[in-house]
Amino acid sequence: MPAVTAPAQAPAPAVDPTARPLGQVGLADRYGRRATDMRLSLTDKCNLRCSYCMPAEGLAWLSKNQVMTAEEILRIVRIGVDRLGVRELRLTGGEPLVRADLVGIIAGLRQAHPQLPISLTTNGVGLAKKAQALKNAGLTRINISLDSLHPDTFAQLTRRPFLDQVLAGVEAAAVAGLGLIKINAVLMRGINDQGAAELLGWALAGGYELRFIEQMPLDADHGWTRADMITAAEIRQLLAAEFDLSPDPRERDGAPAERFEVRRHDSAELLGTVGIIASVTEPFCSDCKRTRITAEGKVMSCLFSRVEVDLLALLRAGDTAADDDAVATRWQEAMWAKPKAHGMDHTGLGDADYVQPDRTMSAIGG
Ligand code: SAM
Ligand code: SF4
Repeated sequence: MPAVTAPAQAPAPAVDPTARPLGQVGLADRYGRRATDMRLSLTDKCNLRCSYCMPAEGLAWLSKNQVMTAEEILRIVRIGVDRLGVRELRLTGGEPLVRADLVGIIAGLRQAHPQLPISLTTNGVGLAKKAQALKNAGLTRINISLDSLHPDTFAQLTRRPFLDQVLAGVEAAAVAGLGLIKINAVLMRGINDQGAAELLGWALAGGYELRFIEQMPLDADHGWTRADMITAAEIRQLLAAEFDLSPDPRERDGAPAERFEVRRHDSAELLGTVGIIASVTEPFCSDCKRTRITAEGKVMSCLFSRVEVDLLALLRAGDTAADDDAVATRWQEAMWAKPKAHGMDHTGLGDADYVQPDRTMSAIGG
């Protein structure tokens, strides 16, 4: 299997290992950034079909053999942490809860890395039954995706009628003590955008931190348009109908979400914070600290990258320390080639140079 693969639809920049300096530190790139935040996808499978992510039907799953085993996941994380300066791990998918060995994977990671912050991004379906076991296994924190509090709207967005399960999952995560629970929401014009302030009111009342994510062109249906996307500026306006937002004075420190303190118009009482992740209109590429590994063990240096570098083939070639060196070097090469920026929004209508990756968000790991 070739070490570097790029989907065939358009020319993609080749990774040039010879350009990598001998003194490269950790997962540094050509633009002075260093990735310390690892996003690892556990599966491409999902039990929802969010319209901004997956098609209604017909997306073929990877075969079992194509997906990293628990042992391979532990090894790749160990290489990242011990050799390459990874300091934070997020497990995602697809839907990570559909992996039957999830609790065991987290327990293994925790045993190997007692101090590593390990978080999980999940749609919350089935979480109610697993939240305590995840906490006991050593999970640090959880992000739960929830776009609407209305069963019909939820079902329209996700194409599944599971709102009650997600709400039960949020509560169970709180009871289990899974840190400050973050709620991720994507607003879709004419579907759930008018529920933004209501969602924020609900999150504040529950003590959760809500983050709105601008819809990105990573949907299977290729239905994204810049004109239809609800921008960060619009999100702030929608929330302003009910709340005063003021910039959170805390350091952003490379975090994707810009945080705001939230108060009612007629009160000075601080109710909590809300985050807005403006990946399209206010990109934060220059501060990006992320390295992504797909469920098939491929490095993607950026969510929007069309270059994938296969680590799993190397992992499967052997299990000695020398092999770990080779995996680490290839990972470094992949990150050295990280693009400066994603270039999605230069024209205001989507950059002419921007080509949507073949993978959907579910198959990259959001
Ligand atoms: N299935 C899990 C979930 O939904 O939380 C984890 C994977 S999902 C790909 C991770 C996050 O990506 C979710 O919060 C989801 O809302 C977000 N997401 C998916 N497609 C997106 C898109 N096209 N634009 C912005 N966010 C997206
Ligand atoms: Fe599944 Fe998450 Fe994608 Fe929704 S956003 S379809 S829950 S992977």
